[in-house]
Amino acid sequence: MSVPGDAFGVAPVGADAAAQPHRPGARWWHAPLTELPGVGTATADRAAAIGIGDLGALLEHLPSRYLAYDSARPVAGLTDGEEATVRVVLESIRVIPTRRRGLKIVRAKVHDATGSISAVWFNQAYLAGVLEPGDELMIRGQVRLRPDRQITVKAHEVLGASSSEGIHTEGMVPVYPATEALPARRLREMVDAARPYAASAPEVLPSWMRARVKVGTRADALAALHFPRNAREPRSARRRLAFEELLVLQLGLIAVRRHEETARRAPALRGTGEISGAVRAALPFTLTREQERVAREVSRDIARDQPMRRLLQGEVGAGKTVVAALACAQAVEAGAQAAILVPTETLAEQHLRTLDAMLAPAGIQPVLITGNVPKAERERREMAVATGTAQVVVGTQALLMGSVTFHRLGLVVVDEQHRFGVEQRQALADQSVDDGASAHLLYMTATPIPRTLALTAYGDLRVSSIRGRPPGRSDIATRWVRDAEREMAYDDVRAELRRGRQAYVICPLVEDGESGIRARSATAEFARLRDGAFSDFRVGLAHGAMKPDERRAAMAAFAAGETDVLVATTVVEVGIDVPNATVMLIEDADRFGLAQLHQLRGRVGRGEFPGQCLVFAEPTAEEGMRRLEALVQTNDGFRLADIDLDIRGEGSIMGLRQSGPTDLRFARLSRDRRTLAQARQVARATLRRDPHLADPEHTLLAHAVRRAFPDMPRLLDA
Ligand code: ADP
Ligand code: MG
Repeated sequence: MSVPGDAFGVAPVGADAAAQPHRPGARWWHAPLTELPGVGTATADRAAAIGIGDLGALLEHLPSRYLAYDSARPVAGLTDGEEATVRVVLESIRVIPTRRRGLKIVRAKVHDATGSISAVWFNQAYLAGVLEPGDELMIRGQVRLRPDRQITVKAHEVLGASSSEGIHTEGMVPVYPATEALPARRLREMVDAARPYAASAPEVLPSWMRARVKVGTRADALAALHFPRNAREPRSARRRLAFEELLVLQLGLIAVRRHEETARRAPALRGTGEISGAVRAALPFTLTREQERVAREVSRDIARDQPMRRLLQGEVGAGKTVVAALACAQAVEAGAQAAILVPTETLAEQHLRTLDAMLAPAGIQPVLITGNVPKAERERREMAVATGTAQVVVGTQALLMGSVTFHRLGLVVVDEQHRFGVEQRQALADQSVDDGASAHLLYMTATPIPRTLALTAYGDLRVSSIRGRPPGRSDIATRWVRDAEREMAYDDVRAELRRGRQAYVICPLVEDGESGIRARSATAEFARLRDGAFSDFRVGLAHGAMKPDERRAAMAAFAAGETDVLVATTVVEVGIDVPNATVMLIEDADRFGLAQLHQLRGRVGRGEFPGQCLVFAEPTAEEGMRRLEALVQTNDGFRLADIDLDIRGEGSIMGLRQSGPTDLRFARLSRDRRTLAQARQVARATLRRDPHLADPEHTLLAHAVRRAFPDMPRLLDA
């Protein structure tokens, strides 16, 4: 293979690009590693085992950190106790036996023009057979001047063997994610051998864009990451790669949305205001400004003949349901049906009650379809759905079964959407009357995600948020209780119970010792509290291992005020609304995620009385501490979501996306917020200017987008 840069520049836009539509740029980018001098098939195989299959992948295998070594110093100038690099000539070398079994010391006499010193290696006896007098060495190590002058070697390299002196011992030395079979040192040598390729890496970002966002070329970024001259260089270089990665993702996501909106039709649900007006008139409250705004956004979207794909986020109790109800009303006005898909039976029943209360004044009676409905009754209801007499349907997964067909489905609302698979959500929407048409989709979530993540995880959706809780809601005071204060905390709870209020006690486990985890269990706490701290009160128990009927009965008894305390697992997270419950006690709180803790405490303070959340925890991990501190500090779910992202990183959340890559290689959302916003903006501008990325200067960008979204080959077409 010849020197890159001449024959291997950016590929022409013509025949070659067309023949390999997903292969960008320089042909050598996908050349095997064996093209590198000194790399044989054995090494190439070891590299392939960690995902480095070709030259391009090697250059994108970035250092995880750097050893900030300085440049070589004269031996005479070394000071006692410092770590330093010297460039020396070997005079003599020998293995020194020690009394400690298995310990071998290699000792060499070395010198430069200014003086001499002993170099000492531990347990590398073979070196005595490899290094020879006269060899020129770079040595990095710990200096000791008394009782004799010696340097304990951390890293060394023999000079003259290659042209790249000092790659292991001098300056900013990259440390690569490595394996035993392919250590960082070997990777360093391979990347060094690939240096000329890095310098001619194909450029994906057009020059106008690099000028606009003030970033350099990809080649410069790769060089700066692998061969930095100072500590600052890698940072801006990584940002350059992150920008490109996020840009490609945003271009793809915006194109997905455009594709969805133009490729499919949806019934235009133009409202007359007749039914939604009646629903509004009968509400016992007026909508908040945020609710009005979101309701308007949804109403406008579903009146179009392009399918709506909108995510409505707002915490538990923010008042999302009424927005959904108004959208359903609009669908019915337009002669279509609406379906509300929820993850659990309890939640389905609760939604049915709420919607029934809201829609009944307008003459609409929602129908429930779950696995619990007896067969004959269910068949009757399914018939009503098929003929269109059932206008609004609330249901669980049972709705997705083949037996349910809609007469004219116009709108699907998916509550707690993250609990459904991507296909499930879309499957229902595609069940519309007209061929090729799709229903409008409104996803709702009570687990707000930070805007940065929304842009990445749901960049193909439009996002509406209801921030804060509706007026008239009480505050929730959260306290972190240490074990020493447990009895005092129970005193506080008893005082509330005596005032006629109710309390939840939430435990991470159903039974003691479950899954080998040491944490409190609902079953044991139930017995302990019933006979102890709360023996004067009526205590109930609800958890997921109970028979559904028993569990429902326990929750119903609590809702009816027949029990004062409900000891439970996270089954109460969704689907229970007891305004008289004012206290929540959470055991081993560090075992729960931040979003989950916040959802849990949203179960109190739902009525006129202020809520209290007492979290018990003795966290041992730093992460647990940070989560609890955040929980105590703020009640704002959106802020908590931001903090959570900081603590956890975006990891799993990326998997929520419907299409495109599921992980990010260079970008970290928690630290690249600005870069993401910029990528979003530039992606928009780019597609405005060149909607199909057809301009020759956008060819490589188009390749990159297609490669990132392999399941949507026609993404950038008209
Ligand atoms: P979410 O679905 O977002 O968790 P809901 O829609 O169930 O919240 O609303 C929670 C409670 O707040 C319900 O009891 C509802 O009637 C009430 N609510 C909703 N909007 C308002 C409002 N604007 N003013 C007063 N109460 C409201
Ligand atoms: Mg809700």
